[in-house]
Amino acid sequence: MSLGLPVAGHWYQSRDLEDGVVLIREPHVHPFARCNIWLVRGEERDLLIDSGTGVLPLTPHLPMVKHRPLIAVATHGHFDHIGALHEFKDRRAHGHEADEYAEMPDAMTLAPLFRQLEAPVDAMPYESWSRAHYRVAPAPIATRLAEGDRIDLGRRSLTVLHLPGHSPGSIGFFDERNGILFSGDALYDGELIDDFPRSDVEHYRATMQRLRALPIHVGHGGHGPSFDDARKSTLVREYLEGRRIQGCPEPPGGI
Ligand SMILES: [Zn+2]
Ligand SMILES: [Zn+2]
Repeated sequence: MSLGLPVAGHWYQSRDLEDGVVLIREPHVHPFARCNIWLVRGEERDLLIDSGTGVLPLTPHLPMVKHRPLIAVATHGHFDHIGALHEFKDRRAHGHEADEYAEMPDAMTLAPLFRQLEAPVDAMPYESWSRAHYRVAPAPIATRLAEGDRIDLGRRSLTVLHLPGHSPGSIGFFDERNGILFSGDALYDGELIDDFPRSDVEHYRATMQRLRALPIHVGHGGHGPSFDDARKSTLVREYLEGRRIQGCPEPPGGI
């Protein structure tokens, strides 16, 4: 239980990376549920890619975008990526999952996984917080995204890539000019998950083939450290080399 834990001094932590990208994280969230939140700065507006667990408001942590238009997108509908989405007006997600954001059913968000973790946090977001009451707030989607859509931020634009497998509506965003890929949970430097209830291994494999052919300067995933093109190739190869082919026995040591 969370009782006895101190209240965290700062819930969010951010780091400025190159090319106008800011990484925001929730260091006190269990690593399994600690996603990478990306802020991509354009000349006219900014793009927020994912929004964390939402246990505390994210907006106060984003003073740099206070007086600018912000587009908030979700790479997919799992709780660790969409918890604070409701705070933003311009919300976008892939059409395969978008309808469900109005209700945020557990079947999509997988919020019970967070409630059931032994230690979902290692410090309290606020004194009376309880994991038993954790829910994802409804955030109806007005703009449904699809493969090939472009998001223009002013002198910078990103293309939507549909990357199903981890979930049916998983998407990534590719800034072609800078070679920056935001890949959500389709690809990151860590244990990839293709056995959630709505995961599909064949779709995942096709997504990996596609990512293999995409040259990048840097990849920013939904979890874990960022990766370069060589590391991307390794991650893709390790997945495709059969470790997770449907029907194969689990690798030694489990997943
Ligand atoms: Zn996920
Ligand atoms: Zn995730």
